[in-house]
Amino acid sequence: MSLTIENLHASVEGNPILKGLNLEIPAGEVHAIMGPNGSGKSTLSKVIAGHDDYEVTEGRVLLDGVDIAELEVDERSRAGIFLAFQYPAEVPGVSNANFLRAALQARMPEGEEIDAVAFYKQMYAKMDELEMNRKFTSRAVNEGFSGGEKKRNEVLQMMMLEPRYCLLDETDSGLDIDALKIVAKGVNSMRSPNRGFLVITHYQRLLDYIRPDHVHVMADGRIVKSGGAELALELEKSGYDFLKQSA
Ligand code: ADP
Ligand code: MG
Repeated sequence: MSLTIENLHASVEGNPILKGLNLEIPAGEVHAIMGPNGSGKSTLSKVIAGHDDYEVTEGRVLLDGVDIAELEVDERSRAGIFLAFQYPAEVPGVSNANFLRAALQARMPEGEEIDAVAFYKQMYAKMDELEMNRKFTSRAVNEGFSGGEKKRNEVLQMMMLEPRYCLLDETDSGLDIDALKIVAKGVNSMRSPNRGFLVITHYQRLLDYIRPDHVHVMADGRIVKSGGAELALELEKSGYDFLKQSA
């Protein structure tokens, strides 16, 4: 079981962004991706999730060996891919509770109805874990939320949907240290032999709490360096200067 990316090339509005990216995330592992601004980290996460703006021009994304190129974004979601956005969208007019309920309902077999009591019980339990006030259940999804509240709400969605592969795009940015610890605890509670994580971050700090099995550096649409958790510490010290030397 793995999420495998093979020689991925992708463009947006005709501009090539991903230029031959290879990555394998076996279930059970946490992979972190770091790299300078504009290197294509968010593009990678959105291409995996199936965002319409991005055109795959070459290469494959395999979910447990099956090419997902033809799957729409909702089908990818139901197949077990989840993306916590760097910039979560606001959805006016749809309450957080109704949004989550609809997302879970969409995963149920035809004709089966979600159990409302069990749903609320589960949602409140996850919100308690994330130390989220219950007033967020009735508020419109992300509308007027602070940066940190949006990030926490992304993690609530992830905890409710229990995806097989979790992509977290800079979920740490906008969080203060206490919120970061709470979010990391939520993520860690989901680590399992059946679930893989791709964690995009600028800061080693997050990786103190979510310990990665592998760290990759992305630059100009490719992975240019990979290592263990210690690579993130090295990057924190010496930055990305090594990229210039090798260019
Ligand atoms: P990162 O997340 O590593 O900072 P991104 O994937 O967001 O990088 O962006 C990579 C490059 O692709 C940037 O130069 C960015 O401007 C460009 N890009 C990404 N999305 C779009 C888009 N929808 N339209 C135009 N350019 C885009
Ligand atoms: Mg980004």
